Amino acid sequence: MGLFDTIHFNKPIICKTCGGMIKSVQVKDFAQTLSSYYEKDCIGHAEDIRILKEEVSCPTCSNSASTHVYIPIVRGIIVGVTESFEEAQRMLQDLNLEKLTFWYHDLFRRYRLKDRELSDARGFMQKLVEWYEEGRHTETEADSAKRILPVFLHEKYLKNEQNPVDAIKKYLVAHSWNDKEMTKERIRELAKEVMDDDKMAEEWLNAPAFVLGNKKPVDLWDTKEGAQLVIEALYRIEYGIGL
Ligand SMILES: [Zn+2]
Repeated sequence: MGLFDTIHFNKPIICKTCGGMIKSVQVKDFAQTLSSYYEKDCIGHAEDIRILKEEVSCPTCSNSASTHVYIPIVRGIIVGVTESFEEAQRMLQDLNLEKLTFWYHDLFRRYRLKDRELSDARGFMQKLVEWYEEGRHTETEADSAKRILPVFLHEKYLKNEQNPVDAIKKYLVAHSWNDKEMTKERIRELAKEVMDDDKMAEEWLNAPAFVLGNKKPVDLWDTKEGAQLVIEALYRIEYGIGL
């Protein structure tokens, strides 16, 4: 057995035996660190140009004999996933500098976003420790009203909670990206935090934004990529970068 990595498909492949959906494949060609990769992710060295052939197994019927996928890798980036070798070859040959530049830009943006999520989580953990060690979880509402403390970013997760686990759960729910409605809610919250004003936040979400190429945030946030662009834009506003 040993370890492997998983490549997730943008579009599921249909199992030839049972018609079930196959959404990912396990590969042993990379670092084998149980990592999850998506199309257009960087998996290795920039010299890496090849077509990977992998057997996929169907989670519904467990049949693995009938289906293969071809995964063209260009300059260390997973270009796509296809069931046809010719299509994979075409994807390899289609490479040009402009495309590659765009991919790397997207990659960079995605990793920067991840980096921010990570530092946000660290910030939360730090606040959580302070909050707990100072005994603020046992404070009455009257006590905390007496406190003159600057409002900090993560306060809402700690408010009204008596124990750290509940606060962590609240944070995790608010930071879940799997659910579209949850993502919108989170973006709305973030916009309110950044704008410091509920009405302005709503207006910003519904108006063309310069930082988004004059597209409206509400027209973008239905897809994961679009939602990330909107979040990125909000962070840029927050930190006053590139307005
Ligand atoms: Zn099947």
